Amino acid sequence: MKASTLSALPLVYVSTVAAALSRTTCSKGRTVANAACCVWFNVLDDIQTNLCVVFFAPRSQLSFHDAIGYSPHLGGGGADGSLIKFSTTELGYDANAGLEEIVDAERTLADKWGVSYGDMIQFAATVSVGNCPGGPKISFMAGRPNATQAAPDGLVPEAFDSVTTILARVADAGLTPKDLIALLASHSVGFQEHVDTTIPPTPFDPTPGVFDTSFFRRTMFVPGVIWPGSANNKGEVKSPSMHEFRLQSDAALAHDPRTTDYWFDFSLSQSLMASSFATSMAKMALLGQKSKNLYDCSDVVPNPVGNIF
Ligand code: CA
Ligand code: CA
Repeated sequence: MKASTLSALPLVYVSTVAAALSRTTCSKGRTVANAACCVWFNVLDDIQTNLCVVFFAPRSQLSFHDAIGYSPHLGGGGADGSLIKFSTTELGYDANAGLEEIVDAERTLADKWGVSYGDMIQFAATVSVGNCPGGPKISFMAGRPNATQAAPDGLVPEAFDSVTTILARVADAGLTPKDLIALLASHSVGFQEHVDTTIPPTPFDPTPGVFDTSFFRRTMFVPGVIWPGSANNKGEVKSPSMHEFRLQSDAALAHDPRTTDYWFDFSLSQSLMASSFATSMAKMALLGQKSKNLYDCSDVVPNPVGNIF
């Protein structure tokens, strides 16, 4: 062994020990690399109930609707919590119908712990997907400032929009077609309530408690044959069964040449679907934000409940 190698060993040891010692101990003995992240363990204790079916869908929907409210041309601050801070405005938009309850719940929690609404919304969605069997672990960045303006109306894609309109809208916000399809994995554990108001909540696949490929597979390969509730609502197409609901936009994206390859790939691979969802969720959570002003609190996010296979 060379002398230079020997002299390097203690340095490596010292830096490793220093890194270990530099972790901050938070409540209940849990540790983080960045002391500013400790508060998120308190938030976690308040939201963590391990009920995928009850909590993932509304938290996921709120995270998307808040973040996609961003356009370099039209305004909106993206993942800034505007949907909570300016809820009197944004909850009046048709696309945000049904979010009142989750907006109130997350506002209460954010105020209790003194965290920003933008951070709260993305953290709740991040934690909740891990409660769904098959759901991936997603990174979490904190430090979003409070929203300064309501997002303008018309930035949230609707189920009755054309593929061209939807792709243009998400591109304007900074997401690719692949991001969009990856984010739609959330429909594997999602429900409709406001497209057909006679049958709320109706899931988008037969396994709404499991983050699996069933949603992609069925939308692509199983033809719709019936209306599960009232017929032919705006944004709805026929479904393969009485117990699942098919959105017009999902059916169109599954077969459109610009997106069908992603859809097909996710229908075949749980691991690709889960990892792509994690990547695109983390990207979406930064829309409209200056990432250099944020800090990594991913070590607060619990490990997912596990895989389904
Ligand atoms: Ca927003
Ligand atoms: Ca499912």
